[in-house]
Amino acid sequence: MSIQITRGTTKSQVFGRKSISEDFPTNSQGKHLKVSQFFAQNVFKLKNNRDFDSETQERINKVLIGQETLDKNLAKIIADKVMNWAIDKGATHFCHWFQPLTGSTAEKHDAFLSFQGDRPIEKLSASQLMQGEPDASSFPNGGSRSTFEARGYTCWDLTSPIFIKDGTNGKTLCIPTAFISYHGDALDVKTPLLRSMSAINEHATRFLNLIGHKESNNVIATCGCEQEYFLVDKSFYLQREDLVMTGRTLVGSLTAKNQQLSDHYFGTIPERVLAFMQDCEIELYKLGIPAKTRHNEVAPGQFEIAPIFSDANTASDQNQLLMATLKSIAEKHDFICLFHEKPFADINGSGKHLNWSLSDNTGINLLEPGSTPHENYRFLTMVSIVCEAVKRHAVSLRAAIGSHSNDHRLGGHEAPPSIISVFLGETIKNILDKFLSGEDYTPNEQEMIDTGAGQLAQFLKDNTDRNRTSPFAFTGNKFEFRAVGSTANVGYPLTVLNAAVLDVLKETNTLIDEKINSGMNVTETLKEVIAHWYKSSHQVVFNGDGYSSEWVTEASQRGLSNLRTTVDALVEFNKKENHEHLIKLGIYREREFESLYNVNLEKFNTCREIEFRTQSKMVDRFVKAAAFRFKSELASLMIQLKNLNQDSGVEEQSLVSISNLLTKISSLNSDLDSLINKDYSSEEEKGSSFTTKLLPMSEEILGLAGEIEDIVPDIHWSIPSYFDLLFVR
Ligand code: ADP
Ligand code: MG
Repeated sequence: MSIQITRGTTKSQVFGRKSISEDFPTNSQGKHLKVSQFFAQNVFKLKNNRDFDSETQERINKVLIGQETLDKNLAKIIADKVMNWAIDKGATHFCHWFQPLTGSTAEKHDAFLSFQGDRPIEKLSASQLMQGEPDASSFPNGGSRSTFEARGYTCWDLTSPIFIKDGTNGKTLCIPTAFISYHGDALDVKTPLLRSMSAINEHATRFLNLIGHKESNNVIATCGCEQEYFLVDKSFYLQREDLVMTGRTLVGSLTAKNQQLSDHYFGTIPERVLAFMQDCEIELYKLGIPAKTRHNEVAPGQFEIAPIFSDANTASDQNQLLMATLKSIAEKHDFICLFHEKPFADINGSGKHLNWSLSDNTGINLLEPGSTPHENYRFLTMVSIVCEAVKRHAVSLRAAIGSHSNDHRLGGHEAPPSIISVFLGETIKNILDKFLSGEDYTPNEQEMIDTGAGQLAQFLKDNTDRNRTSPFAFTGNKFEFRAVGSTANVGYPLTVLNAAVLDVLKETNTLIDEKINSGMNVTETLKEVIAHWYKSSHQVVFNGDGYSSEWVTEASQRGLSNLRTTVDALVEFNKKENHEHLIKLGIYREREFESLYNVNLEKFNTCREIEFRTQSKMVDRFVKAAAFRFKSELASLMIQLKNLNQDSGVEEQSLVSISNLLTKISSLNSDLDSLINKDYSSEEEKGSSFTTKLLPMSEEILGLAGEIEDIVPDIHWSIPSYFDLLFVR
């Protein structure tokens, strides 16, 4: 089949696609159920589950808040209930669902089928529920274990909901677990997160108790993730080796109109996409994931989904589940969901805003300013603690969001820069600034925003405006860590953020304790604490334009670090002074940190290498091939014209242009090939060379390939273009 026929057929196939209608859950009369009637129907409840007698339920509740440990008897009662519930819903298998350091999720399935003598039965024992033993040797461990110590254990995490995953021909009961080595070292993202959650509970509760909230006995970190993604048609995707192998385009020429008119953002959602979103939401609701907002994003083909926040551990698990659901439902709708931070050069990429706060059992949100923030010293203390935490541990926060893919986004004019600063908004910054000067703060009349349209309701101006350029912004009653990438397993930056705050929170408790013991009242104590932390950290607060080049200079004058690339950030993070708090707080063990470092660096290098190799192959097989076809056509045409004594100047110009481009791209491509194959003395050297030498070459190749694509007739271009990928649906 000729090239044009292949691409043309794909295009008309894609253009002719109809929206696929979803199976909305109905009652026995075929009437649509309300979402509240089927919400979490695929989730097993440990709390308030009427199937448990009251004594069992009470024991479970105690286990859940850490007042009792789970014994085998109780586990057996739960295992029986879970299994019967799952079988009732049609499950045949169960699996321990965990998050190895690969960044995605893993599962090993076992059938419930078992034998009693020679009689087939279904069985889930207490130990099968509580513990599994997958072979760990094939998961990354960053050199923390020798291969003979292949054993790894999965341990049930009671605080995250058990759920059922629907498949076309069967269902699987999924048990969220942590993944640890034979020596109890964390081999996953969840274990350190859980440790940080326990520490937050301990120290934030102490903080509240110290300042007079005696009824507080439990504090959690809360998290809500806004997830951005691209959708491209499956047929185009399968013809783009770069997208399949690396999740981003490595050759491609930008269309004339892309996002300049901002006509996609918040625009009407295309029908086929809306059908996909609705289908996804049904699945998410069944899984107990409260999907709340959906909209178009800035770039063509880009969208966002955000659920209502929950405790950080559940939110982290549910974000993984959400990504998996988006991916699988997309395929049902003949789409591919791309989570890469920068699938298309020169068009906005995707992030995953990590919204974060702390809240206690009595309903206090520690970052809620209330209507008089200047008198809310508990709130101001928390804000000043967070500022100090971000200033002190900026390197760890930068490293925790680092990945080969997020490097393309940070510092582009669409995403926060790699300088970690805090946006507080005018009001809060003004209040805190008074603590530095020692003056009293007098609030302005809260301004009304005049919309200029009488028919629109007048509304009060928020305490914080939106500042999209800040990597870490206060947004009303929570902080939003915006620099997190869309592919990230959010559990990792969450852990590092919790740890940074914990480090300062612990010191704060000591300070408060001393002051109160010396007879100072709570208000005066908090005022001193606020001044103390803000004095030390106000340099990290920046309300201005984070995209501007002036900020880069100013940040450096303020002494803030600007770790431009992941490799730089990892190497800094690996220095003792930048990570020892994680170890002192008991969130990572020394060995675990070492493996984390190695795994992340190796992953960076491997992903880059795959990109370079894929690009090089595509240049040879598609870009150069297309240029050759065009050259041959031009050459024949010139011969014909010469035979007819006709002028062939224009043809010759084209021939020279394409030949020049071909020469450049061929030579760069072979230089790239030889550098990939070079022997590097260490992963650090490799990473740094990949970043500073090979990546710029690869970007130049991308540019040249784009120029070639722009002059070669469409008929010779065999792979889907940016136009196809972004605009045809
Ligand atoms: P925006 O686009 O204005 O940032 P969204 O509604 O898209 O707002 O997303 C905000 C996210 O923040 C949601 O997931 C929301 O549930 C979450 N969120 C709100 N309050 C808190 C909180 N106290 N702690 C953590 N996350 C929160
Ligand atoms: Mg947001």
